[in-house]
Amino acid sequence: MSYIELDKRYIADTYARFPVEIECGKGSLLYGADGKEYIDMGSGIGVNVFGACDEGWTAAVTEQLNRLQHASNLYYTGPCAKLAEILCEKTGMQKVFFCNSGAEANECAIKAARKYAAEKHGDGCFTVATVKNSFHGRTLTTLAATGQERFHKLYNPLTPGFVSVSAEKPEELEALADGVKLAAVLIECVQGEGGVIPLSKEYVEFLREFTEKRGILLMTDEVQTGNGRTGKLYSYMNYGIVPDAVSTAKGLGGGLPIGAALLGEKLKDVFAPGDHGSTFGGNPVACAGAYYVISRLDDAFLAEVTRKGGLLKSFFENAEGISSVSGYGLMLGLKTEKDAREVAKECIQNGVLCLTAKDRVRLLPPLNTPDGLLLKAAKVIADACKGV
Ligand SMILES: *Cc1c(COP(=O)(O)O)cnc(C)c1O
Repeated sequence: MSYIELDKRYIADTYARFPVEIECGKGSLLYGADGKEYIDMGSGIGVNVFGACDEGWTAAVTEQLNRLQHASNLYYTGPCAKLAEILCEKTGMQKVFFCNSGAEANECAIKAARKYAAEKHGDGCFTVATVKNSFHGRTLTTLAATGQERFHKLYNPLTPGFVSVSAEKPEELEALADGVKLAAVLIECVQGEGGVIPLSKEYVEFLREFTEKRGILLMTDEVQTGNGRTGKLYSYMNYGIVPDAVSTAKGLGGGLPIGAALLGEKLKDVFAPGDHGSTFGGNPVACAGAYYVISRLDDAFLAEVTRKGGLLKSFFENAEGISSVSGYGLMLGLKTEKDAREVAKECIQNGVLCLTAKDRVRLLPPLNTPDGLLLKAAKVIADACKGV
């Protein structure tokens, strides 16, 4: 049996995989088991921020791998402490909880908000508002937070205490906050799975002002938008606000599983020993990789992400069959006249791997992809968008 056949036989059928087996890669190029070369415009859904097998990242990870792979959270280890320090220094957040995925990072932020609100505002204050069309993960709680009904059906009852509101109508949040005691508002500044839809600057500013005034926490889900993706270290930095908590994962580890909830001033002391935990959380190998990632994402690097994103944006803005381009930095959504998944399939034929999100083609290339490769891939994608 081929691996594709083996996978179909033994892997739970939760993914609509494309018929490609990826065997290896170098930088922004990936190679199929049949030897076919692909330009990677998805980076494993925003994970491989420096592409495949980046030398610096691989060295950082293997050095730690040869020292110690895991110690448990009963003891101190260096890599997680160093990573927490650099994350706090670069964001102004105060404390970090490490876990292993985006859903878990959101779970932690939600637990922190609930405990804070219960202690500060009393037992009935637990509701978390999220935005319609958002995505926050696949656990029963983060599904409840996800503002898209299509993910909910068949899994009810979900965790209670979540309500989604429209980002076009600030009055919906106002009415909600008048009706129930709100603990927090959780947002993606740019909705990734929702189709690369940025929230407006006015709405995000409104949220910061409104939550501040009402003693409600504001938390940003930076699982997809974080770690340099939008041209800032975290996407809220494009909006000139500071949230009370930030959750992140995907690109943080540069390819290894890690998630983090960054807690600001109000939440920094919310947890005491025993309140929360994760066996693998803060794993030294994952943290060594993440430390390398975060250290490399300096201002000069981030400016390059913005420049490269601009290059792609202007290329697509005039392309036939593409009606609009959304997003920041190297997180772009293309509204195509053709079906997005058909475009992605045609791109595979022509050696480019791209993603889709709802009815858009979604691009999340490695952040250091050379301009030449970006433009080569852009041409293949634009050609695939032509003609219905
Ligand atoms: C991917 C994603 C998640 C879930 O992350 P997992 O690591 O798959 O659990 C949560 N929020 C956002 C915004 C995401 O894009």
